[in-house]
Amino acid sequence: MVSRLAVKGGDAVRTRPWPVWPQPAPGVPGAVADVLASGRWSISGPYRGTDSYERRFARAFAAYNGVAHCVPAASGTASLMLALEACGVGAGDEVIVPGLSWVASGSTILGVNAVPVFCDVDPETLCLDPAAVEAQITERTRAIVVVHLYSALADMDALTGIAERYGLPLIEDCAQAHGATYRGVRVGALATAGTFSMQHSKVLTSGEGGAVITRDADFARRVEHLRADGRCLTDAPPAPGAMELVETGELMGNNRCISEFQAAILTEQLTALDAQNERRRANAALLDERLAGLGLRPQSTSAGTTSRTYYTYAVRLPDGQFEDTPISAVTEALSAELGFPALPCYAPIPANRLYAPHTRRRYTLGLDHEERIDPKRFALPVCEEAARRTVTLHHTALLGDAEDMEDIAAAFGKVLRHGAELAPGAGPAHGAGPAHLADPAHVADPAL
Ligand SMILES: *Cc1c(COP(=O)(O)O)cnc(C)c1O
Repeated sequence: MVSRLAVKGGDAVRTRPWPVWPQPAPGVPGAVADVLASGRWSISGPYRGTDSYERRFARAFAAYNGVAHCVPAASGTASLMLALEACGVGAGDEVIVPGLSWVASGSTILGVNAVPVFCDVDPETLCLDPAAVEAQITERTRAIVVVHLYSALADMDALTGIAERYGLPLIEDCAQAHGATYRGVRVGALATAGTFSMQHSKVLTSGEGGAVITRDADFARRVEHLRADGRCLTDAPPAPGAMELVETGELMGNNRCISEFQAAILTEQLTALDAQNERRRANAALLDERLAGLGLRPQSTSAGTTSRTYYTYAVRLPDGQFEDTPISAVTEALSAELGFPALPCYAPIPANRLYAPHTRRRYTLGLDHEERIDPKRFALPVCEEAARRTVTLHHTALLGDAEDMEDIAAAFGKVLRHGAELAPGAGPAHGAGPAHLADPAHVADPAL
């Protein structure tokens, strides 16, 4: 019985529970209670004589990242759209973006009436391939968005070089990389602007939330206006009871503010981020060693990376094994062994069922536009290969101890040894199979 795969009815490698996510920092209940009693639940509520939590978080997060400006926003999606518009991206402009990412990387570009140009990735880091970026630049290119995916940082030396050479703004999507550093500089601080998501699954979270960071005061001012219906915060606090947002009419916006509750939670969660990142990093290093010993290839990061953060642990199957087995059969077998969801990596965005511009009337801006945004026009062989061969685990799996890493390695070892049972035609699965414990970031995007 012991030798049989759990997905086929055998005993599982592990039945102990896993850590849960999110984990509230000790100060969270007090901070939330403070907001409740404060008489101010949003920056668009009246000033009460003390700094809003939104201002406090913005200051703390800017300082943490070593930049002058942070504008909190409703979500990672909102932050990306704000950053794109603050770069001047608009109707018909092309924006280069990696083809391997969460669907929001494409939908946000569509959302500002621009044209996503999906670009292939590096096979080892799974982040934007600089040579592929350069090949996609045209006179209609208006910006580049780079995603630091899973646990890797993109090759920022090459990408900032390209952006400078062509005079293009570069936005770092740091939704999966809060706290990582490249040549000693925090991600998000390396380019024109950095955007973050604080959605439930992310390593810094308030359930929903986001932020844009930048070194550029004018850029930050544009983001402020864009996120608060065209209003910005006063330089000096107003009289208690008055509004802290002033109507300038400088730049029209939409409401994409976070609430004081979210800002209060983030202010406290930020104090726990480094220790949590460190724990995940140490566990990932152990897991890298164990899985490499089994012939698997953990995702690597660019040469300039000085500190990695793990939003997701990603590892490639050994060459020559499971070549004819769907990746979903492998991840289901691993999930059944672990009682924790192992998932395939993202489908390339043009092939993602959630990426379907034709289902929305708002993108019917004329035949020319519809052809330019047609997902079928993109060929992304490296993204497709990664999607066929990469297994991912949410960072919750890295928040425990070394024994957890041994369990994960044991599950991979067992599934590799019994790989033949998963080949098509090897008989139907009759085990309990994994519960649907999917990472929420893979199943639903409330912003769409
Ligand atoms: C989560 C995520 C987003 C979207 O963030 P939301 O807060 O869910 O809107 C964007 N890009 C990447 C890479 C993400 O992982």
